Amino acid sequence: MTDLERLRHSASHVLATAILKIWPEAQFAAGPPVENGFYYDVDLPHRISPEDFEKIEAEMKKEIKANHPFERVEVSRDEALALGKKGRLAALNERSEPSKFKLDIIENIPADEKISLYRNGDFIDLCAGPHVMRTGNIGAFKLTNVASAYYKGDEKNPQLQRVYGTAFKTKKELDDYFAMLEEAKKRDHRKLGRELELFVFDDDVGPGLPMFLPRGAVIAEELEKLAKETEFAAGYQRVRTPHIARESLYWKSGHLPYYAESMFPPMELEDKLPSLSRPAGCQPAEEEGEQDARQPSQPGSLTSDRYYLKAMNCPHHHKLFAAVPRSYRDLPLRLAEYGTCYRYEKSGELFGLMRVRSLQMNDAHLYMTPEQFEAEFNAVNEMYLNYFKLFGIDKYLMRFSTHDPSKLGQKFVDEPELWKKTEEMTRNVLKNSGINYVEVPNEAAFYGPKIDVQAWSVIGREFSIATNQVDFSQPRNFDLRYKDRDNIDKIPLCIHRAPLGTHERFIGFLIEHYAGNFPLWLSPEQVRILTIGDEPKLIDYARSILKELRAHQVRAEIDDSTDKINGKIQRAEQMKVHTMFVIGKRDMDADAVSVRVHGKGNLGARPRSEAISEVLSAVRERRA
Ligand SMILES: [Zn+2]
Ligand SMILES: [Zn+2]
Repeated sequence: MTDLERLRHSASHVLATAILKIWPEAQFAAGPPVENGFYYDVDLPHRISPEDFEKIEAEMKKEIKANHPFERVEVSRDEALALGKKGRLAALNERSEPSKFKLDIIENIPADEKISLYRNGDFIDLCAGPHVMRTGNIGAFKLTNVASAYYKGDEKNPQLQRVYGTAFKTKKELDDYFAMLEEAKKRDHRKLGRELELFVFDDDVGPGLPMFLPRGAVIAEELEKLAKETEFAAGYQRVRTPHIARESLYWKSGHLPYYAESMFPPMELEDKLPSLSRPAGCQPAEEEGEQDARQPSQPGSLTSDRYYLKAMNCPHHHKLFAAVPRSYRDLPLRLAEYGTCYRYEKSGELFGLMRVRSLQMNDAHLYMTPEQFEAEFNAVNEMYLNYFKLFGIDKYLMRFSTHDPSKLGQKFVDEPELWKKTEEMTRNVLKNSGINYVEVPNEAAFYGPKIDVQAWSVIGREFSIATNQVDFSQPRNFDLRYKDRDNIDKIPLCIHRAPLGTHERFIGFLIEHYAGNFPLWLSPEQVRILTIGDEPKLIDYARSILKELRAHQVRAEIDDSTDKINGKIQRAEQMKVHTMFVIGKRDMDADAVSVRVHGKGNLGARPRSEAISEVLSAVRERRA
């Protein structure tokens, strides 16, 4: 338990104490710390509502002010049961009703485990701890919510009221937390996506299948441009592959059966092509019987052909590696594609752009000799860091996911030696490069260790945006080879990497990161020209500027309606247009424009050529 969790869990005892002061008959179940706070489940005839919070918080404050110590007492099972029967657990005194949930919890404590109670003031609870020293150590807290929850999460059990709160060491941290929540609500990418006309979902198109409107598509295009330039400079080559493939491809890759659940069900085609059998060792996940639609067909039983929507680009890229004879001189070979993939996410798990069923991935596969691994892997990490700098992502963490040896052959390909070797190699590179990382067991990809990059937006929201995976398994499955210096065929190593993740998730992240106020180079509408009045000569002047901007590929629009200038400015501000050129008669006469920047206001009049070249250089340099 972290210090903060200890503090929050202690606050849940204080919450129970306060509820009992008001409703002595309350029965408590579990009260753990959770992400961002704590809760306590309570059974109570009175229906607790947010209107009760003030009253409960007042009692909590008294308990904190009293600064009672949290005292730990170890008891025997019989003593604990006796107290529970007298209603003395999670209570201020003995009661006529037994502490029913606590009795049930005691029954489920293993025989060899110690049983402990914690006491603060009159309140005694069954609890393993740990706690802060005294109630006064709970700095600042607030109740946040009440919801219903079944005892132990089982709907056959009684329904309880779950009272949520949060607590911090200091009042300032508490205030900052709520300010962040408030800001996050304003920045919600689903809300801004609608308001700024960036993307939509449509019931007829299907859940989890976002469509980008012109303003959102622009952002995707700019990101692709960035990726293409960066990758070109780093020696990548671009390829293009179809969105579907025959079933046999995914048996080779091992996505069947390891990844079948995340793929869309196959399409049956009456193509009658020669059947391709699975490579040895790839068995379907379940025994024969009723054929599930998602269950791969048996080898030799192909009367028709099955195709899958691609859930990843790797198998196609491996085929491209194999399409040409390769020698060590061709390595490292870096094949890149902004590939569109389809993944079957459960409908309950879909969430805005963050969890979708169609995704356009900043994908590439790097093939190399073992000697080249360190340099390639470092270069990939370097690319991640450069992107983070460009987008002003200051806080990030690399999560190095490794395999669990007990799950070889189920969750992870059964190659114990290769797992050990590649994990060791990756760990060394991470250590040597001094990158901030944590190691997480049991979360590797099925074909090798991976690194997930978590980033935090400026307001502290966390996103998992990119992965970097080492693969020793697929190159073998695909029989990929290169002729080494000694003229012997060898199997290359492969790195899968996607620093900008998918368009969907990365754009979702950027919307919240920038609160929709994109830097000029990413802005859907970079410049809007607003005319003061509608005199024909003035309109001609404004249109000539529009023409010049567009000739330089600037995304410029014009508002030459007869509306008042203040209304025009307001409309542009609402759409978060980055730069406005306001043009009145005086500007026209001086061959100038008055520049306004969203969020900065009026910057005054500039010569026309200066204003335009300023825009062009900010875009070219991808200035923040
Ligand atoms: Zn406790
Ligand atoms: Zn891949």
